Amino acid sequence: MKPTGKELKTMQRMQPGVQTLSGFLGDDTRPLNEIIQDDAIVLDRLGRTQQEVAKRMESLTQASWDSYLEGTLVDGKYLVQTEVYRGRMPCPFGHPGIYRKAVTTLTNQGNGITVVWTSLSMHMIGAHGFFEGRGSAYRLEPETLIKALFD
Ligand SMILES: [Zn+2]
Repeated sequence: MKPTGKELKTMQRMQPGVQTLSGFLGDDTRPLNEIIQDDAIVLDRLGRTQQEVAKRMESLTQASWDSYLEGTLVDGKYLVQTEVYRGRMPCPFGHPGIYRKAVTTLTNQGNGITVVWTSLSMHMIGAHGFFEGRGSAYRLEPETLIKALFD
């Protein structure tokens, strides 16, 4: 699908060096609507919604918020650690929202999968269904993420 003017603006903000050093699209050449659409198909196949995934990420982040130095073990197998950095990041979709620079690392000790996300990743997944472009530093493959969060 041909991107709209609004999408082109968003994609512009997602370029390296505009809002973040490395940007959000990696080396993905698909238009934004296709990136989102392709990941939506995967979510659908796995029977999860973007809101459900974001909510689970938020609750694990919350659980680790106060004990970031050593991490927290949730439900006996989800090892979560959150580090908060100085600074805040705006949403590239042009929202008024500004997100704390917090990086959460989750290891599912049951299947050995480790995933890393930021406060902004959680927002972009929940509100926009955007898991970032292929090759982006914080790209989250929906299938891997779902296995880490729910297995
Ligand atoms: Zn947003």
